[in-house]
Amino acid sequence: MKVAVVGGGMMGVSLGYFLAQEGVAVEIYEASSDLGGLAGQVLLEDGTSVDRFFHAILSSDAYLRQLCDELNLTSHLQLKEKRMGIYHQGEIHPVNGIFDFLRFPTLRSIDRLRLCLAVLCTQYLRAWRRLEGVNAEEWLVKLCGERVFKSIWRPMLRSKYGEVFDDVPATQIWASTKSMRSICAGFAQKQLVGHLIGGHLALINALAKNIEKMGGKIHLGRPVQEIMIEDGRAWGLRFGNKAIPYEAVIATVPAPLYRQLIPDAPPTYHGFLDRIEYMGIIVPLLVLDRPISGYWRLNIADERFSYTSLIETTTFIDPQFLGGHHLVYLPKYTMPDSWWQQLSDDEIQTIWLYEFETMFPAFDQSWIRQFLVHREPYFEPVHRLDGTDHIPSIKTPVENLYLATTAQFYPKLNNCESVSKHARHVAQIVLDEQCHCYRQQNGQTPQVVDNERVVV
Ligand SMILES: Cc1cc2nc3c(=O)[nH]c(=O)nc-3n(C[C@H](O)[C@H](O)[C@H](O)COP(=O)(O)OP(=O)(O)OC[C@H]3O[C@@H](n4cnc5c(N)ncnc54)[C@H](O)[C@@H]3O)c2cc1C
Repeated sequence: MKVAVVGGGMMGVSLGYFLAQEGVAVEIYEASSDLGGLAGQVLLEDGTSVDRFFHAILSSDAYLRQLCDELNLTSHLQLKEKRMGIYHQGEIHPVNGIFDFLRFPTLRSIDRLRLCLAVLCTQYLRAWRRLEGVNAEEWLVKLCGERVFKSIWRPMLRSKYGEVFDDVPATQIWASTKSMRSICAGFAQKQLVGHLIGGHLALINALAKNIEKMGGKIHLGRPVQEIMIEDGRAWGLRFGNKAIPYEAVIATVPAPLYRQLIPDAPPTYHGFLDRIEYMGIIVPLLVLDRPISGYWRLNIADERFSYTSLIETTTFIDPQFLGGHHLVYLPKYTMPDSWWQQLSDDEIQTIWLYEFETMFPAFDQSWIRQFLVHREPYFEPVHRLDGTDHIPSIKTPVENLYLATTAQFYPKLNNCESVSKHARHVAQIVLDEQCHCYRQQNGQTPQVVDNERVVV
């Protein structure tokens, strides 16, 4: 079976690996000159390669760690106990576990207790579907009270979801606080966070190398211009005026880009894809000559600041692996068409540095080695209240065309753990369905297992 995968990010490369393992002749097409997509890297002026967007591996990332094991990368995985905090009322407060919430200094005792119970209650909740129709604000006010909501949660929700913050379901809070719990070891809730030497790209490159060893092909700098569809069937990919035939095509790009690649898909499918909303992101990266916060992640509960959080990855990556640099990422979430996305890099630098100096009065601009700005218009799908009808399916209305994208595993967080798990699932669906078709065409009766899977 000859299958094309559109996109060479973590999803495309993991899928390629799982399919190649099953003997599929897989070819991956990546638009840019490097693999990795959002998990890719950028070269600093001195040639050091660093994550374009901050990436960490958590001790609970079971699928990702299993892949590292399979590819003999476990010895490159470094996990450390690390610190998280909240910037609130001009000060940094550690929030590494329940006891820190109980001691949170800017809240009254009763509010601390309610905050703590709210975090525990959300972390241990299993029936998350009940939260799907519940507004995050209403849920948090009910659990923590108006004062805690206004002073802690509201600024964080506003900075993450911007103008749609009052329309997000409580499942979003559930997914984030649950992920905090899963990186905690026991009730003391010690954080374990880490990285692969060489970043997530080391894993992606190892997957790519194995795909090629198993006979697959990877084409870099080859943007797919169209997925060819005729009579309701996908039959290949178009590059300029040349089309290459494939028996199946799997797109791994965000829904708005995918929509542009399928002009001959049914109009109702276009209409459905048009309704999937995305958040964009702007991520300035400060390359410093010294550490600044001592925290892996600081959430900013203060509406004066443009950035949502501060992520200092060199608190868990030894700077010796990064040319001695200290890396501080200052992300801001925006809607794709927001005016923030129209600002020039220089304007962003001016605003961000002004705010950074407010946060760290001792900071001196002479400590900066480089200031970079990266952006993505379609970083993460937005799920509004009762928005589960807007989750696109893996099998599409077009025969032999599949979609594997981060919009599909809601309410799980958008990270490489969810992506690698999802890619395995998609590979299985493609194999099952294509095998089923093959047997039907050849007059063989497929053997159905578990109502869905077909024995290959
Ligand atoms: C700021 C930030 C921080 C993050 N932090 C973490 C973290 O700490 N841990 C973690 O696990 N995850 C993290 N993630 C999430 C992680 O990066 C994503 O979940 C993952 O990379 C998504 O992979 P993907 O392949 O689905 O999408 P993408 O990475 O977007 O890949 C899609 C690929 O398709 C290519 N493409 C687009 N159009 C075409 C075309 N026409 N033809 C061919 N190719 C095309 C693109 O160039 C791209 O390479 C973070 C993401 C961001 C942005």
